[in-house]
Amino acid sequence: NSVFAHVVQAPEDPILGVTVAYNKDPSPVKLNLGVGAYRTEEGKPLVLNVVRKAEQQLVADRSRVKEYIPIAGLADFNKLSAKLMFGDDSPAILENRITTVQCLSGTGSLRVGGEFLAKHHHQPTIYIPTPTWGNHPKIFTLAGLSVKTYRYYDPTTRGLNFHGLMEDLGSAPSGSVVLLHACAHNPTGVDPTLQQWEQIRKLIRSKGLLPFFDSAYQGFASGSLDADAKPVRMFVADGGELLAAQSYAKNLGLYGERVGALSIICGSSDVARRVESQLKLVIRPMYSSPPIHGASIVATILKDRDLFHEWTIELKGMADRIISMRHQLFDALRKRGTPGDWSHIIKQIGMFTFTGLNKEQVEFMNKEYHIYMTSDGRISMAGLSTKTVPHLADAIHAAVT
Ligand code: PLP
Repeated sequence: NSVFAHVVQAPEDPILGVTVAYNKDPSPVKLNLGVGAYRTEEGKPLVLNVVRKAEQQLVADRSRVKEYIPIAGLADFNKLSAKLMFGDDSPAILENRITTVQCLSGTGSLRVGGEFLAKHHHQPTIYIPTPTWGNHPKIFTLAGLSVKTYRYYDPTTRGLNFHGLMEDLGSAPSGSVVLLHACAHNPTGVDPTLQQWEQIRKLIRSKGLLPFFDSAYQGFASGSLDADAKPVRMFVADGGELLAAQSYAKNLGLYGERVGALSIICGSSDVARRVESQLKLVIRPMYSSPPIHGASIVATILKDRDLFHEWTIELKGMADRIISMRHQLFDALRKRGTPGDWSHIIKQIGMFTFTGLNKEQVEFMNKEYHIYMTSDGRISMAGLSTKTVPHLADAIHAAVT
């Protein structure tokens, strides 16, 4: 007997549940393309060399202690994270119109930003793209915002539904928050062009909407940290306000360290200071203060020119391997004469390919080929290798013929 006897079994998380099922499968050819984590050519998780070096420095420094850090996190980490996202010469930073607080990776940054908006923004409605990362609607609903959607992806072209996007944002009530994936949109791998970003920016500013960027893949899309930050910086350059959530999970491989940052760019330095004081009131009762280790690693790398340079090379290496997997899979399908246009595999950007495979095809590939992916047909290109591409191509070929 239990006072919790009425509690029903909850479903597995749709993304993390894929790995649970994968782990149970004894097949030697099984392939996990579900989870969004980078794997080496050998299929192994990767700890970056620069992270190992930074950790060695931290361990060797006997003056370091494990005291609580401030509610808003490590000051160095926050300053350097803002520069990484907005650029060294960002007007918002030079004018002190920004507050940055260290949060629990991208998820925690979105949640803290969401709760701040629910409490202090006059229009507590957020528009998220369809489709989007499955956690977005849950994060913002629980933060107290009303969640609405805007059209983003066009399944017929497997590209951007730019017209639908502009129409939906154009009719959003003034003041509404708009969630934008800064680069490498998850799950579609479809990003606006810079020209389209400029039109989106003009619309958002003219309608008085408030942009909230989710930057989970800076550097992972193109291989360049600055290039991937361009859309965000366009919105900073016009002098307007915005929020940005940063994650170091993918680009530094710090997944389990839970290290990220929330920045809010405000109209004046005075407003920014007051906003920061309220962010601390959101954070304190939630988890008191953030963890020290991951942020120390990031700060060590960002403030050391050599380590930073080494990081950019390792990051480019990861991005290039993913791009090479796109080409190999595309070529393998062409070689098999698989019916359909598969050029979206090489056109899409970032960690994922939105294959266009339907639920039944995904189930077939799982049953017959032991391939694990989310039921929406999204595959993680980072989980592929030269060795496993033929197996995946065979499975896709069999699924569509
Ligand atoms: N936002 C998007 C679009 C993501 O894909 C992810 C991770 O998959 C996140 C945010 C947050 O990840 P994390 O909390 O691990 O930084």
